[in-house]
Amino acid sequence: MNTIMVIGAGQMGSGIAQVFAQSGYHVYLNDMNESALEKGMKNIEKLLNRAVDKGRMTEDEKTATIRRLSPSINLQDAKNCDLVVEAVIENMDVKMSVFKHLDEITPAHTILASNTSSLRITEIASATNRPDQVIGMHFMNPVPVMKLVEIIRGLQTSEETYQAIEDITRKLAKTPVEVNDFPGFVSNRILVPMINEAIYTLYEGVATVEDIDRVMKLGMNHPMGPLQLADFIGLDTCLYIMEVLHEGFGDSKYRPCPLLRNYVKAGWLGKKSGRGFYQYD
Ligand code: NAD
Repeated sequence: MNTIMVIGAGQMGSGIAQVFAQSGYHVYLNDMNESALEKGMKNIEKLLNRAVDKGRMTEDEKTATIRRLSPSINLQDAKNCDLVVEAVIENMDVKMSVFKHLDEITPAHTILASNTSSLRITEIASATNRPDQVIGMHFMNPVPVMKLVEIIRGLQTSEETYQAIEDITRKLAKTPVEVNDFPGFVSNRILVPMINEAIYTLYEGVATVEDIDRVMKLGMNHPMGPLQLADFIGLDTCLYIMEVLHEGFGDSKYRPCPLLRNYVKAGWLGKKSGRGFYQYD
């Protein structure tokens, strides 16, 4: 595998493109929105400059990494790729449409991976005629820093596809963990209900925002409290994942907290909107 396309130059896609390029792969970073693409490329350059300043990378390595990255506005560039990693918005219709097009554009050997945080790989794969070559490759945020990649086997994912993705994950100096295709996989099935419970704890007046976070940081040794983490992930994303769990399992234990719904309705989405459980400049 030499040439990769990452689709979606947002928070996750730009990080994924960066780690592939740093590991020697030729990468097309694709976005349908030109200004998002420009922003994604600039973000990568900023992070690479920071790595040079901190002595974690030489100037030459930075230049070589940037040279391996090609911005792409045209999905047809996927015809040159051995692997495509999709990181567009978390919406099943949008992802299915992207996979349908990729199935038509890419060569028969190309593996199609999704970075979805909660949607079923099996359903995404059904938009293609190669469900055995469709797989979940769930990177964590921020991608250049976090070691884990959850690899999700869809119902029809072949052993060969799984092995290829496990190998490539190790080449990125990340740790693969194999999981099956159930709502929220492992990471978000455990993390997001914990965040939702922290919001219920606030909603019921058990403690303040700061004190809830303090208990989990000092008492459980979490690097960040659950409410601050929710602000970083985005409250809309947290709500969306709770809804996927609630619907996917049909179990009332996953019901989203009404306070979370209120915040999202108010446009308090966390750090990205300037206000969530905390205020940001
Ligand atoms: P984002 O909103 O920052 O970026 C999404 C990008 O996709 C945008 O630039 C948008 O222009 C582009 N896009 C949308 N439709 C497109 C299309 N049809 N073709 C090409 N580009 C398109 O989102 P994000 O936070 O980077 O999340 C991307 C994916 O990664 C989602 O599936 C999300 O669930 C998953 N994810 C997110 C996180 C996180 O912490 N943010 C963590 C793990 C996985």
